[in-house]
Amino acid sequence: MFSAILPAMVNSENANVESVGFIALGCPKNLVDSEKMLAEIGEAGFVICEDISAADVVVINTCGFIAPAKQEAIEAIAEAVECKTSGSVKKVIVTGCLAQRMGQELIDEVDGIDAVVGLGERDNIAAIIKQTLHPSGGVGSVMYMGGDNGGISDDRGRLLITPGHWAYMRISEGCDRKCAFCTIPSIRGKFRSKPEDIILSEARELVGNGAVELSIIAQDSNYYGRDLGEKDGLSRLIGKLEKIDALKWIRLMYLYPAGIDDRLIETISASEKVLNYIDMPIQHINDDILKAMRRSDRKDKTVALIEKLRAAMDDVVLRTTVIAGLPGETDESFAELIEFVKWARFDALGCFSFYPEPGTAAAGMDGQVPEQVRKERADILMGIQQEIAFEKARRHVGKKLTCLIDEGSDKDGVGIGRFYGQAPHVDSICLVKDCTAQPGDFVETEVLAANDYDLIVQEISG
Ligand code: SF4
Repeated sequence: MFSAILPAMVNSENANVESVGFIALGCPKNLVDSEKMLAEIGEAGFVICEDISAADVVVINTCGFIAPAKQEAIEAIAEAVECKTSGSVKKVIVTGCLAQRMGQELIDEVDGIDAVVGLGERDNIAAIIKQTLHPSGGVGSVMYMGGDNGGISDDRGRLLITPGHWAYMRISEGCDRKCAFCTIPSIRGKFRSKPEDIILSEARELVGNGAVELSIIAQDSNYYGRDLGEKDGLSRLIGKLEKIDALKWIRLMYLYPAGIDDRLIETISASEKVLNYIDMPIQHINDDILKAMRRSDRKDKTVALIEKLRAAMDDVVLRTTVIAGLPGETDESFAELIEFVKWARFDALGCFSFYPEPGTAAAGMDGQVPEQVRKERADILMGIQQEIAFEKARRHVGKKLTCLIDEGSDKDGVGIGRFYGQAPHVDSICLVKDCTAQPGDFVETEVLAANDYDLIVQEISG
C-alpha cells in the first residue's frame, strides 16, 4: 500500500496564499488520482505544504479496499482533525475510494470532516477546497459525490509524487470481474479503457519530463480494450508505447492470469522495452476456493501458464498475491496453496489474510475462517515465501545486472537502484556500493552479495 505526504512546495513569501496539506494513501491507481489533484490544487494558486498542521486545508485521498486501509485512512483523518485544534488547519476534506464507498456514513462515523468528495469530483478538487474554505451558505459537512463514477479520467498534467524518472501510467478505470472478496467494482465502477490517444499523449508527456520507466497499471491490465470489443488491446498498446524513443522500461502490473494469452506472452518476450516481469495476482490455487472467489482461473491452467512463461522467457520474474482464509478454505485447501507456492517459487509474493468486507459476496458466505486462523495462515505463507525469496536473492550473486538508479549515493556512498525484476515500492531493491550515478541513470552492475530480500551491487564499467 502506498502512502505519502508530498514534499514541501512552500511559498513562504506570500503569507496571504492559502495552503493545502495533502496525504496520499492507497494503491498506485489512487496515487495517480492524488497526483492529478495536486496539479489542480497547485494550478489554482494554493501552496502545497509538507507540514499538514501548518496548512489551511488538509486533503486526505483515501483507500477503502480492505479493513486495514480503512483504518489507516480514519487514523489519517483523525490526525488532520486534531490539527484543527492544535494547528492552523481550518478544514479537512476526504477524497478517494473510502469517500466514494462510505459517503455520509464516513461523516457520521468520523468527527470533524468538512467535506467528502467522491471519485467523479476529482477534477473539481480546487473549486471544492475554495468552497469549503469560504462557504457561501451555512457551515457543516458537505458531500460532493458528483454523478456516477462511470467516466474515464484524463490523467495528463499530473504533479508526480513518484520520482520523475519513473511514473505510473493508468490505462483504464474500474473492473468488470466479480471476485467475491473485492469491493473495487462497487467503488470504481465497470471497466473503461482510457482512449489510446490520451494514453500515448500522457506517456509522451511523462517521458518528456524525464521518465524512463513507466509502470502500466489498471485493476485488470490485460483486459484493456475488451470493453470496446478488442481482444489484444494491451499488446497493440504496448506496440505504440515502445515507439517512444526515450522510454526504456515498460513494466506490466496487475495481469489477471486467465487473461495472459499467447499473443501477450509473445509481445512481452519479443519486446526490448517490456520487462520480463509479470505481476499476476493468482489469489489462490485450490479450484474450489477459486470457484468460491468467482475467479475464472483454475489450478491446471495456472500451472501451465507458469510453465509457459518460464519456457518463453528463461529470465522471467514472477510476482503474485494470494489471499489466505477465504470462507471454505480448509486445512487441505490451504495445504494445497502451500505446496503450490513451494512449487511455483515466485520471485515475490504478497499474502493478505481475508477480510469479510461489507457488501462483498464473500462476507456473507458460509464457512468463515476465524480471524486468528486467517492471520496465522498468512504468516505461514509469508514465512515460506521469505525462504524462497532469500534463496533466490543469493542466486543472483556474481550476476551482472543493469540497474536503474532511484537514489544517488548517501553519506556512505550507497545509492539505491533496481534491476528489471524489482518493481518500485513493492519489491526488493539493489544497494549500489560506491554509487556515482544519478537518479534516472542506468548503470551496469555486478551483484556482490544478498542482504535478505535485497541485493548489494557494485557499478562496473562497460
Ligand atoms: S480483478 Fe477481481 S480482485 Fe481485481 S479489481 Fe477486479 S474484482 Fe477486484
